[in-house]
Amino acid sequence: MADEKTYSENPIYLRVKEELNEVGPGMCAAKWTQVTLQLQNGHNHSCHHPRTHKISEQEIARNPSALHNTRYKKLRRKEMLQGSRPSECDYCWGVEDNSDRFSDRIFKSGESWSYPFLKEIKESEKSTYSANENLLHTVLANNFNVLYSNTLNESQKEELKNILSMSNDELNTKTTELKESILTQVETILTESKDVEFNSKLNSVKNEVQSMDTSKINYYRLTELKNGLN
Ligand code: SF4
Repeated sequence: MADEKTYSENPIYLRVKEELNEVGPGMCAAKWTQVTLQLQNGHNHSCHHPRTHKISEQEIARNPSALHNTRYKKLRRKEMLQGSRPSECDYCWGVEDNSDRFSDRIFKSGESWSYPFLKEIKESEKSTYSANENLLHTVLANNFNVLYSNTLNESQKEELKNILSMSNDELNTKTTELKESILTQVETILTESKDVEFNSKLNSVKNEVQSMDTSKINYYRLTELKNGLN
């Protein structure tokens, strides 16, 4: 993640570091905004540096958001909020204590999928908790990260970054516009097509688009659909 432009004088990262250190020297938004779920063995971690830990089945039964908000992780967040440096994050403490470089604590907290939530995390009364909507963003962001590093071209990366940084108002407006545009396009194809089977599929697409709730993941699905129609 680090490169030659990320030495300690970079003003953007300096600002992120300052904002984190207002809470404490161990504060890192990735503990809230990033998760990797290992569904094959029921483990998770935030971020990828600390070891994974088991998700309690009892916790999930009480509240499914325990997929990300495990009791264990909430305690690590609490340590961060109270000015401590969780020992599981020793990868970052090693970098910070032994070099003049920024650690991943700064880079990950400054990412487009993380930084927009920092203020809310700092101010929230239940700040050791990450709400379901944030969990969705988190999973989405991590899926995007996988895509981001492997298969996407530059314009697709830009598109994904834009979706993740959208405000709720913007998301509402753009989802409505995109749905209308897709539905108009589908209607046009339907009036021109005589193929019964194809028309039946188009009607299914139409119904699915109409029933989609507004969310970032659905907006992403709609953009993919729109690209497929063009
Ligand atoms: S402090 Fe470092 S190791 Fe800990 S969650 Fe943040 S980026 Fe990961």
